[in-house]
Amino acid sequence: MVVLLAILVTQVTGCYRGHSPKVAHPAIVTASEWGSNPDPIPADRAQRPDRITIHHAGVAWRAGDDPIQKLRGLQEWGKRERQWPDLPYHYLVAPDGRIFEGRPTSFVPESNTNYETRGHIGVQLWGNFEEQRVGREQLEATVHLVAWLCDQHVIPPSTILGHRDVADGTVCPGNDLQRYIDEGDLRVWVAEMLARRQPDIVLKDALPDGPVEWIPVAASDRAVP
Ligand SMILES: [Zn+2]
Repeated sequence: MVVLLAILVTQVTGCYRGHSPKVAHPAIVTASEWGSNPDPIPADRAQRPDRITIHHAGVAWRAGDDPIQKLRGLQEWGKRERQWPDLPYHYLVAPDGRIFEGRPTSFVPESNTNYETRGHIGVQLWGNFEEQRVGREQLEATVHLVAWLCDQHVIPPSTILGHRDVADGTVCPGNDLQRYIDEGDLRVWVAEMLARRQPDIVLKDALPDGPVEWIPVAASDRAVP
């Protein structure tokens, strides 16, 4: 009887707490590690994430750009100009594959466009993928991050969309990145990781009408913060 009870307790708690991760925790520079300075987020902005939305910065990334400077600049601009208490995105991915934590996923993201943002986890890749091509490190880090998020929050890969799929009036996340969503690659790679397999991430050829310029990944960008 005692043994049976122990098994039952293990099984019941296992449903909630014993979730054994399918995807390893990616390396993430936490908000406190990069020196985030958010305002408190009102309790009515709390959310339970159920989908993933991919963004680009919309500004070309240049060799030597500093992600931490960009994080601070975006956070301060949002607070000052938009009354956003914290960064609009939950995670931000640099061209060298470093992942930075933004707003906690337990709060609704922000947007300059009009759509129902509740439930979304916003993942932004630095760069402008209307003008630049997404590179291997950034794409691989994004796949790992999104797979880990799907695993942690029990989100199906079918919910992964680009910003332009959910809102009018934006080209975000740019043609060179959006096609990995349109053609299903991102969802397949994430599903592979959720099945504990290593995805075969293959970069596509340049689009006939561009962009052709690769996003720069300079040696100076690789330094650990
Ligand atoms: Zn966007």
